[in-house]
Amino acid sequence: LGEPIELPQSADEIRQLTVSFNQMMADLRRSFLLQKEFSANAAHELRTPLAVMRAKLDVFSLSEQVDHGTQEMVDSISQQLERLSVLIEDLLWFSKDLPLEEMTPVPLYPLLCDVAEELSSVADEKTIEIQIEQTDCYVLGQDRLLERVFYNLLENAVKYSPAGKQVRISTQKEQDCVRVQVADQGEGIPEECRSAIFEPFFRVDKSRSRAVGGSGLGLAVCKKILERHHAQITVLPNQPNGSIFEIIFRS
Ligand code: ADP
Repeated sequence: LGEPIELPQSADEIRQLTVSFNQMMADLRRSFLLQKEFSANAAHELRTPLAVMRAKLDVFSLSEQVDHGTQEMVDSISQQLERLSVLIEDLLWFSKDLPLEEMTPVPLYPLLCDVAEELSSVADEKTIEIQIEQTDCYVLGQDRLLERVFYNLLENAVKYSPAGKQVRISTQKEQDCVRVQVADQGEGIPEECRSAIFEPFFRVDKSRSRAVGGSGLGLAVCKKILERHHAQITVLPNQPNGSIFEIIFRS
């Protein structure tokens, strides 16, 4: 408990306080923008050496000097380079300004089918099922950005579910909105973490998340993109297990 706050005594004092408050806010905003630019530049610069390392490692693993022991090491390095690459791409998405392209009506059904198909190759025995009552569901947006959102959500649903479980996507056109849900039967998200998971680098179980990979930025990127679409994302429990990520696009 600090010193008691002294109240301003005169209009002049209030004016001075307002000026210094505005100055502080401007400084804060400037340093925030610099920090964002720094992260975007750093991520961008890291891309090239990483791509070179990956290419050289690929060539090396094909050479005849690679015995079984060396191959294991090469695979492990390759895995870590892959993680680094995901982290850099997500950092770039998170820190760069989103492209200011025109919003156009995006048909959800083909977009969700494409993302689901892309992910089904890495989904092991988990099934991705799309339930869409109205195949003519459209939202106003940028398809490339929306694709990123659904890729992140579906990838998480698959990543945080055990084998043999189902991931369900449903869309519903309502009077003044379109509601999309991505439901899984995985480990679920404790109630006290349900808003924090949209913060950058927040992870429910740090050790487990590290084992399954990922950057900790996926949901922060989703939130950032959806804000641009004036859409809201929340997470609901999917009883008895699992979670439901719900997005509401207002029309
Ligand atoms: P990460 O790269 O760690 O997956 P995200 O930002 O995508 O980063 O997610 C943040 C955290 O939210 C994850 O580490 C995980 O703890 C939790 N999470 C996200 N999606 C799910 C899900 N479908 N089921 C359970 N936990 C989830």
